[in-house]
Formats: sequence, structure tokens, C-alpha cells
Amino acid sequence: MCKKDGFLRVARIGQHFYEEPPVSGTLGSGTVFFCGCNMRCSFCQNKEISADYRGTAFTQDELISEIKRLESEGVHNINFVTPSHLIGELRALLLLYRPKTTVYNTSAYDGAEGLKGLDGLIDIYLPDYKYSDASLSLKLSQKRDYPSVALNAIAEMFKQQPKNVYSDTGLLKKGVIIRHLILPGYLENSVNALKILSDNFTGCEVSLLSQFTPRADCPELPRTLKPIEYKTVYLTAMKLNFSKIYTQELSSASPEFIPVWDL
Ligand code: SF4
Repeated sequence: MCKKDGFLRVARIGQHFYEEPPVSGTLGSGTVFFCGCNMRCSFCQNKEISADYRGTAFTQDELISEIKRLESEGVHNINFVTPSHLIGELRALLLLYRPKTTVYNTSAYDGAEGLKGLDGLIDIYLPDYKYSDASLSLKLSQKRDYPSVALNAIAEMFKQQPKNVYSDTGLLKKGVIIRHLILPGYLENSVNALKILSDNFTGCEVSLLSQFTPRADCPELPRTLKPIEYKTVYLTAMKLNFSKIYTQELSSASPEFIPVWDL
């Protein structure tokens, strides 16, 4: 399903300014967007690379050179995006070259055993928690077991990084921020997802994403989020046990924020 072909195939390497402010900072996050994915979200903004596996094949040494080049440009961290299906290859790369600050940016459809292999190699985990509703997960992402798999994966991430550590300038240096993309018309899924996170990871930091952008090939989700929907989920989050809630402006729901796949 993930379409991996034995290479580290990448669609974009470069500075990225659209992560949470403590991750992007002022100089950007140094992102490595891997091709392929072990999920199949019908609404995926990156479908051209997640489902089609379009991109450039790098050897381990070539990718390490690119990472060093990014670091020399002054980015705040090296951010591996959609790495789950390449977790073994990523571990091997990080054992050869460990950037100063690393980010594992994932759907959270990860095996806890695989994540254990990254202990000591990843500083910041940015997992999604997309679904509390298994039938919705099956319908939109072809994975019925996503809610339980993602919860186990996030628990392992907290074992490795139990406390968020910020620099004097507000950059995240270590820790976990859990993202939740609010899907238009599916507020119950969002409210329950936040309750589960609050119960299981009391005091954690969450990021509420409003950036859902409709695609012509995803008729199940034909519109952007309404302000009242975002507000409802935000007010729910405010009543739960989170130590920090990152919010996102509704104007983020635009194709202009989708990176250009130039590799
Ligand atoms: S997990 Fe993310 S990259 Fe993968 S298909 Fe879903 S939205 Fe796309």
C-alpha cells in the first residue's frame, strides 16, 4: 500500500514555515517530505506524492548531504514528514548522521515497536490523532484500527519525550504536540478524539487544525470548515486537560499553503 520501492524517495527538501510557530520559528523547519504513505486518506492534500509515490530516489549518503545543506542554511530542525513506512531506513540514516534537532511528523499510524527503534534519535514528535471513530477512519482512510494504533504509537512517543522543552526564544527543542485536523461535518469525531487525548495524555499540548481543503476527487468532504465548527471544537478543548492549545486561522484552508513538489 505504501508503494515503497527500496529507495528513500523524496518530493521536497527545504525550509518550511507552516508548522506550529515553535517548530517553524523564524528561520523555518527543514522539511524532508517522503513519498508514499501507509494510509489512504481520501482528502489527502498531498495525494500526488502520498498515493502516487512521485519523487526523486536518494541514496542514504545523498540524503544525508541534503540534510547537512539544510542545516547549514540555519533551519531550526530537520523535520521528516510522512516517515512511517520508511521507519527502518530512517533509523539507519539517523544512526549514521544525527542532526541536532529532529522531528518525526506522522499520521501516527505507526507500530510502537518500530518507534522504539527511534528512541534517542528523535527530539520532537508531531503525531496526528485523526479519528476517534473507527468506522469513519475506515471510510475516509481505509484503516479501521487507526484509533487504537495511533493511541499506542503516541503513548510510545510520550515515553521517549515525556516533557515539552522550549528554548528561551520559544522554540520547541524536545517533546510532543498532537495535531487534530477537524473535518467539516464530523464534529463528534473531533470532540471524542480530544476527550480521548485528554484522558490518556493529561496535560499534553494539542494543535487544532482548520486547514482542511476540499478536493474534487473527495466528494465526501465538499466544503471547508465553518467558523462555528472550529469554535465548537476549540471550546471543547478549552474545557479539557490540555496545557497548551495551538490554533490555526481558517484562512489556512487554501491550496496556496500546499508545498510545491519540486523533486
Ligand atoms: S496520513 Fe497524511 S499523507 Fe498519508 S494519506 Fe493521510 S493525509 Fe495523506
